[in-house]
Amino acid sequence: MKKGRIRIDEERCKGCLLCVEECPKNEIKKGGKINRFGYTFAEFCDNGSCNACTLCAIVCPDCAIEVIEITEDEKK
Ligand code: SF4
Ligand code: SF4
Repeated sequence: MKKGRIRIDEERCKGCLLCVEECPKNEIKKGGKINRFGYTFAEFCDNGSCNACTLCAIVCPDCAIEVIEITEDEKK
């Protein structure tokens, strides 16, 4: 099965949490920090269940999410 992780651009994120609702693996949560625009940005949970499905990136209205697929070599 595919494995992945995401990178959230903290300064782009407006904290709408659409990605949190969309992620089927509950891998994104509301963070505890505020960016320079005053938004509480989302954070990747990194629980190892992200499968690089890209749903979070597709739904993000601010293009703040980059999905990185983990290759077989990186898993080792
Ligand atoms: S790529 Fe899929 S599984 Fe990974 S964080 Fe985004 S929505 Fe969740
Ligand atoms: S959908 Fe995008 S803007 Fe909204 S909380 Fe997630 S990363 Fe931030």
